[in-house]
Parts: sequence; structure tokens; C-alpha cells
Amino acid sequence: MATKSLKGKIGVTTENIFPVIKQFLYSDHEIFLRELVANAVDATQKLKALASSGEFKGELGELKVSVELDEKKKILKIVDRGIGMTEDEVDRYINQIAFSSAGEFLEKYKDQLSSIIGHFGLGFYSAFMVSKKVTIDTLSWREDAKPVHWSCDGSPEYEMGAGKKEDRGTVITLYLDDDSEEFAAKGRISQLLGKYCKFMPVPVVFGKKTEWKEGKSVETDEDNLINNIDPIWTKAPSDLKDEDYLKFYKELYPMEEEPMFWIHLNVDYPFNLTGVLYFPKIKERMAIDKNKIQLYCNQMFVTDHVDNIVPDFLTLLHGVIDSPDIPLNVSRSYLQSDANVKKISTYITKKVADRLEEIFKEQREQFEQKWDNIKLFIEYGMLSDEKFCERALKFALLKNTDGKYFSLEDYRTAIEPAQTDKDKTVVYLYATKPAEQYSWIEAAKNQGYDVLLMDCELDSHFVGLLESKIEHSRFARVDSDSVGNLIPKEEKVKPEMSEDDKKALDELFKAVLPEGNDYMVDAQNLGETAAPVLITQNEFMRRYREMSALGGGMNFYGTMPDSYNIIVNMENPLIAKIWGERDKDSELLHQVVDLALLGNGMLKGKALADFIARSEKLLK
Ligand code: ADP
Repeated sequence: MATKSLKGKIGVTTENIFPVIKQFLYSDHEIFLRELVANAVDATQKLKALASSGEFKGELGELKVSVELDEKKKILKIVDRGIGMTEDEVDRYINQIAFSSAGEFLEKYKDQLSSIIGHFGLGFYSAFMVSKKVTIDTLSWREDAKPVHWSCDGSPEYEMGAGKKEDRGTVITLYLDDDSEEFAAKGRISQLLGKYCKFMPVPVVFGKKTEWKEGKSVETDEDNLINNIDPIWTKAPSDLKDEDYLKFYKELYPMEEEPMFWIHLNVDYPFNLTGVLYFPKIKERMAIDKNKIQLYCNQMFVTDHVDNIVPDFLTLLHGVIDSPDIPLNVSRSYLQSDANVKKISTYITKKVADRLEEIFKEQREQFEQKWDNIKLFIEYGMLSDEKFCERALKFALLKNTDGKYFSLEDYRTAIEPAQTDKDKTVVYLYATKPAEQYSWIEAAKNQGYDVLLMDCELDSHFVGLLESKIEHSRFARVDSDSVGNLIPKEEKVKPEMSEDDKKALDELFKAVLPEGNDYMVDAQNLGETAAPVLITQNEFMRRYREMSALGGGMNFYGTMPDSYNIIVNMENPLIAKIWGERDKDSELLHQVVDLALLGNGMLKGKALADFIARSEKLLK
């Protein structure tokens, strides 16, 4: 073939696919730079491999990839000192393979192109998304190789012939399109190199470093190096110290607070995956940034949308995952069902659980200190991922209202003696708002019970999960019943009352309770010294309401009026008196009911003013 200039038609089926690709991939034009730099990096690494196997015996020279921009002429060059190509190779890899595979690709995915955007690089071909003309000047590493010049103006026709390049390697020159002018700006190219090439394994250089001199930015002699060629995830964990991990975190997220801990991922069978995941310090619980894990493929940035690759709850983590085994040329829905991706997701979940368990076992004190911060994450994981849940039952902590932490097992052992009810169910008591539920918590403690703190957004769901996972257990909010009834030790002895009496008691109390709620009046014998009236909310009703408020879908309960149990202690002397009088206007009746309402924060407005006036009068 050699020196004679050749003209040919690129082997694609569509008459002119350049406009098609421009239109479809419009929003993602910027990836052309990643693709071209990645090719240059590949060519450089191939040369290194040839040198180390002894096949290439010449001078390697300074192996770097340079990106050069002429802002005025709108010309962008990607220059490498890699293996280069012979004319035959340009014909094979560019004319036939690169172009025809782009054609096939378009044919195959034309219906779902937009969903693939960003995950699939079109390789060399993507240069045409931003250029009106592209040229290749290349000289192969092989002895006696001749330089080749290739040129294509965006129609499916190319020209190829003898070139002038004197040193080994390849120069790709892009004559930027008028509507891609944005890429003729240094700032934009810098930004893209920073985004896509920050950790590529061969030095990538963009112009010279600048410094401020006499109020102006001037170029120095030093190369402006874009990347860190050996980021920590490529190293062995045993060679790294805590400082290295923290430094790398700062490099990734300069604005973030220090992470709490990290996990180094490193597996080569049955798939390849490396990376470092960090547990961020969660400042505002619900304002957690989810797109903080960056996905790389052999140190080339692919995306920061890893939703389908790591389980949902792990998207709260920050860091880097690098795997050549994640198929990137497929749509997102396909990704979810891909076996490799599933394995990867399972592996990551397992590693996260391993690490948490390790910290729980070996650094218990630290784990407890960090618990409030990681609790949301762990509860979310337990609720959404069955496998993680099984693991986390071993290291999840419960915190009580005194601020003490327990493992699930230890807690059960601690409360079992006092908090087992007549049906051999262990009753876990909890408070959601300790300040408001203060008197209930005190009453339970006086009884020898312990009260957990469950004040996290997910706790109403979490309580249900624990109930299903811990055998013979039941959770009850500390104000869901009178303290004597929270953990019934024997069958309740109900006061003996006729149906008529029950009805009369019901009417008597409902007459003085505020309107707008549902009430169940229940006569009980709680002893002479216990309060005359208690107002409680049924545990299950309340949980359903809370869940529907959180969007749990149980809206039927969400629309029902609040429903309360009014427990009337028939053994209390005041009740005995009220019951004897059976007078709806009795001040004593109003007073005991208002006191109970007050204890639940339910006495408001006029009712509260009336109560105060009445109290003053009764005190006189
Ligand atoms: P891919 O990189 O996915 O194989 P491309 O279309 O980007 O597809 O490139 C096709 C082929 O052209 C590459 O596999 C490589 O053999 C060759 N090639 C591209 N760029 C270079 C380069 N800068 N130096 C040497 N060979 C290159």
C-alpha cells in the first residue's frame, strides 16, 4: 500500500452517520476527550509492555500524553509517544473496525441511544461529534515503519497516504466544529481533563503551569500535569497509612469534613474490582448527597451515577470504584439484571458488612461514638437489603434513653428478666421524644424497665423490622399504655361492671374530652396510688400513621382521626368519687381529665385557660 495516496469509503451502512451521532449524543459531546486521551494512554501502555517483554528495544523517551489547544484556530491535538500505527493498522483499526463498529452500534441501539449516553464511549469515532475534520499522523514503533497521514472531513470518505511524522507515536488533530466552539477554550478543556483524566495511569499534560507575576498569570517551564498516575486504590492496603486515605479523600472532595472510616476493595476473582469507599460524616440526616461514588474503568472516569452497580443504601458512601468488568455499553435497565453487576453489588455489600463487624469487634468504643452518625445508613441498609440485614443484626446497636449502647444480643440479655410478659414475649420499650415522654420514661424506669431511644426518621420502620427478626419480641412505645400494662405479667383483672355501667362511664368521660378525636374509654384496676386517668395511643395505630406520614403507602390510616385510649383507674379514690356522683359538670371530673390531657401535651387554647382558672379556684 505504502506511499500512494488512497481514497476510500468507510464501511458503514448508513449513508452518513455523522449527523445522526451528533444529534443523538448531543448532551454528551464532551466524552470525546476522554475517549481520545484513553486511546493515547492505551497506546503508551502497550509500548511499555512491549519494552518490558523485550520486543521493543528502542528509546522509550518521556512517555506522556499531551493535549494542545490553539484557541484562535480552534484546533485541538492529542499527542502520544505510544506504539503508533502502520498504514495497514490504520486501515484495519480505524477505517474498518472503528468506523464499522460505530455503524453497527448505531444500528443496534438506535432506539435506546439516549439512555446509553455517557456509559459508552464511541472511541476514536467520537472525535467527529465535535469536529468538522479530523486527521491522524502516526508512526509505528516497528522498525522500518513509515509515517502515515489520515484525514476525514466528516463525510464517510477518508484519505490516507504517506505522512511526515518523524518521531514514534500518534497525533490526533481535531478541527473543531463551529457549533463546538466551547471546546476551543482552555478553561473548558482543563475542566474536562480534571473530570475524566484525573487518575489515568500515564502522565497527561495540558500546556504549562502558570504563576502570578506582577499581577499577571504567566507560563512557567513546568508541564501542567493533570493526573495522579497511581491513586491509592491501585496500591496494596498494607502499603497505606490512615493519612494516605484521608489525603485521598481530600483530593476527591476538598470541601468535605473528614470521613469516619473507609473500606479498601480489592478483588480479582471472579471479577476485577478495586476501590476505596468512605463513610462520610452525615451532617444533616436527610440532606445526604447520593452521587458521590465515582466509577472508573482502568483509572478512566466513567460516571458518578452508580445507582445500578451498588445497592441503593450504599450510594450514601463516598469514594471510588474501579472495574473493567462492569459492562458500560448497555442500558441501565440491562445493567440491573447483569450477572456480573449483581456479583459486584453483593461483594461490595459483604465487604461493607465485614468492615463494620470488624470495627464493632475490635474498636467497640469508637464504634459506639460513631454510631449516631452511621445509624441511619445501617438502618437503611437493614431495611432494604436482606443479606446486609442478616449480617448487621450482629453489630447493630441500640441506644437507651440514658445514652448507653448495647448490641442486640446484650440488650436482650439485660432486659429479659424484668421485661418478659406473661406470654414469654420480651417487651422492648422505647421513646421517640424523650422530653415530651419524660414522665412515662420515669414511670417505666421506676418499675425497673429500660427505655430505648428511637428518634431517627427510619425508626418506625426499623422497630417493625427488629420485631420480625428478634424471636419472641414486641416493641412498645413507653406511652402506649399504663406502666402496669405495658408488660402484662398476669391476666388483667378487669373491674366488674355491667354493660349499662360501661356505657355510662363512656358517656361521662367523652362528654369532657376535646372534640375531633376518637376515644376508647377503658375501666381498669391500676391500684389506689396510680394516676386516675391515663391517655395512651395504640402502638400499632400510631405506627401505621407514622409510616403513612413517611410515605409508606398505608394512607387509609393516615386519613383517620387520632384515636386514643382513655384508661380510667377505678381504684383511684378520686375516680371512686367521680363515679359515685356521675355528674358531667363536676369540676373534679374536668380536672382529672385535663390533668391527663396536659401530661400528653393535648391541652390547648381555651381548654388550657379554663383549666388554670379552675385550678386556682380549687386551690382557694
Ligand atoms: P477502542 O479503543 O475501543 O478499541 P477506538 O475506535 O477508540 O476503539 O480505536 C480503535 C483502534 O485504533 C484502537 O483499538 C487502537 O488499536 C487504534 N488506535 C486508536 N487511537 C490510537 C493511538 N493514539 N495510538 C495507537 N493506536 C490507536
